[in-house]
Amino acid sequence: MERRISGRTGMFCLIGTPVGHSGSPAMYNYSFQNKGLDYAYLAYDIPLEKTEEAVQALRVLGCKGFNVTMPCKTKVAELVDELSDAAKLIGACNTVVVKDGKLYGNNTDGMGFVRNLKENGVDVKGKKMTIMGAGGAATAVQVQSALDGAVKISIFNRDDEFYANAERTKAKIKEMLPECDVNVYHLEDTEKLYAEIKDSDILVNATKVGMKPLDEQSLVEDKSVFRPDLVVADVVYNPKETKFVKEAKEAGCKVAVGGIGMLLWQGAAAFKLFTGEDMPTDEVYELFF
Ligand code: NAD
Repeated sequence: MERRISGRTGMFCLIGTPVGHSGSPAMYNYSFQNKGLDYAYLAYDIPLEKTEEAVQALRVLGCKGFNVTMPCKTKVAELVDELSDAAKLIGACNTVVVKDGKLYGNNTDGMGFVRNLKENGVDVKGKKMTIMGAGGAATAVQVQSALDGAVKISIFNRDDEFYANAERTKAKIKEMLPECDVNVYHLEDTEKLYAEIKDSDILVNATKVGMKPLDEQSLVEDKSVFRPDLVVADVVYNPKETKFVKEAKEAGCKVAVGGIGMLLWQGAAAFKLFTGEDMPTDEVYELFF
């Protein structure tokens, strides 16, 4: 490392809090070295109220780009000079590229989801999707799927503080992408949920259900909805295989994928935006996932 870093080494980083547990520095530094790129990546613990100062400091220091995690994602979207369509619709940034002193905000979470499906032979273009959830991950999946050509998205969320978010996402997609038909329903209406799943090509769990400590739970209790040609995807990556994905596979769904691939590919998408190069994803997955 000490031989690799010089006075010319370009800096990338992660901001947000907590970041001490983050795997991003290892993943990016390995990839820079693997690709022979003269860059280094660090993580900075930044609370929400320090976001503006941190972004200003990164501008002054000539940082080449940075990733953003909670709680700074929404604030950063307000501070950058330009937003990608996905970041605009989601209202949050997880990747910022700095070019000629200007900050370009992106959101690669949904890109990671769509790419993970593609790696499993599924294209969202022209598909009908039922997506459970209306938080950060769900919104990213809904927006990117609409941008990439999904024709119908049925959003289900329980009656909590996220429900209104689903309505906002519906309104924003309707305005920018009127060709995508988005509807919002209550997750408690299981009859409607199962009817929409029956009519869908792709079913997604984008809630926290399935993640520890909710790892004994799945939002789909009637396993008869899992038909072989229904594509099932989870955003939850811990555990790697959720109850939802496991039960879908057992019931015969040909494609049932967990969230770990989404995590890998959202990082790869950010790496591409940062460097213009492909991340060595096979090695990165092997070493860090
Ligand atoms: P969030 O807090 O923004 O949203 C939480 C969502 O879960 C809301 O829709 C909420 O209504 C729903 N929810 C919570 N408890 C529920 C319950 N008991 N029953 C029904 N619905 C419930 O969270 P988030 O940031 O969107 O994260 C959601 C999951 O996605 C987490 O497991 C997170 O680790 C994962 N995630 C994965 C990736 C990836 O790359 N694979 C990226 C981001 C988040």
